[in-house]
Amino acid sequence: MSYLADSKRYDVMQYKRCGRSGLQLPMVSLGLWHNFGNDHPLENSREMLRGAFDLGITHFDLANNYGFPNGTAEENFGRIFKQDFKSYRDELIISSKAGYYMWPGPYGDWGSRKYLVASCDQSLKRMGLDYVDIFYHHRPDPNTPLEETMAALDHIVKSGRALYAGISRYEAGLTRQAAAIMRELGTPLLIHQPNYNFFKRWIEGDLLDALNEAGMGCIVFSPLAQGLLSGRYLDGIPVDSRANLPNTFLTPANVTDELIGKLTQLNAIAQARGQTLAQMAIAWVLRQPQVTSALIGASRLSQIQDCVAALNNLDFSGGELAAIDAIIPGDRNY
Ligand code: NDP
Repeated sequence: MSYLADSKRYDVMQYKRCGRSGLQLPMVSLGLWHNFGNDHPLENSREMLRGAFDLGITHFDLANNYGFPNGTAEENFGRIFKQDFKSYRDELIISSKAGYYMWPGPYGDWGSRKYLVASCDQSLKRMGLDYVDIFYHHRPDPNTPLEETMAALDHIVKSGRALYAGISRYEAGLTRQAAAIMRELGTPLLIHQPNYNFFKRWIEGDLLDALNEAGMGCIVFSPLAQGLLSGRYLDGIPVDSRANLPNTFLTPANVTDELIGKLTQLNAIAQARGQTLAQMAIAWVLRQPQVTSALIGASRLSQIQDCVAALNNLDFSGGELAAIDAIIPGDRNY
């Protein structure tokens, strides 16, 4: 059946300016790392994308290597885009990235100009798009001059393959250098994509300050620590959960009794706030003024609906924050 987006799709979602740019992003965005590849039913992926857009999620985040096998998330997104979203292209922010292994030989990984431009062209082809809205360098490359990687991003934007450029996983010092190079080239970096959740708090060190200085936005990935910070594991490991599925980085060994004890305590705080644990974890990352959007993943539409409802309560008392810190102090190292 053809898709007609919900006419009320902009009534619920809140949008936030991305750094000092002209672009606003939904405060909850959807990533297609897992559950959109060929190892998952296309109809479920379609239901999630339609349902997300109906909730005002205008931003879908991809990368060359997403899905299993690599590249299939972009291919499946392209299929669904062609059938459902083509007429909504100007309402969508679609991103892709390159930086991890994609094809054999010296030109299919890391951060050379050769790799980034070729990979961007491959991503556009897989998705059937003329351009992506944001193209990222996915991770720092210690062996390629930063000037070369940034010049490649600048070229990708100036040649019309992308509207904006971003970086992911760059620590604060390198972010400052990258931002300075891109400003000089005339393509200011729009956004940084780091991980951030109760466990991983490294961005609170210097990165958020660096983003403020550079006028860059911040979209944080894995705000639920791949699902650990949700109600998913409170009673053990469900058979259909990421920790139990193949082709993922989360394993049953990550779900210890000690962790479940902490999650149970966190869940009590969330309940007292009138939220699910997932909603509290999302609200917590969004409390940082520099964080533009929480980039979630999902295996079913009901999870996306639950996550978006986090926006109903974004305020934390000092007592709540201290109680969360006491349960999980978090790691502040990069
Ligand atoms: P999350 O931390 O949001 O974890 C998503 C998982 O949490 C889901 O698959 C689901 O688990 C569970 N979940 C989500 N919502 C709920 C809910 N309301 N209730 C219960 N469980 C819930 O994010 P991801 O780790 O998936 O990462 C999100 C995106 O970030 C990726 O798709 C990608 O776009 C980006 N990313 C970027 C990286 C980078 O290097 N730049 C690295 C990693 C991710 P289950 O599947 O078990 O149901």
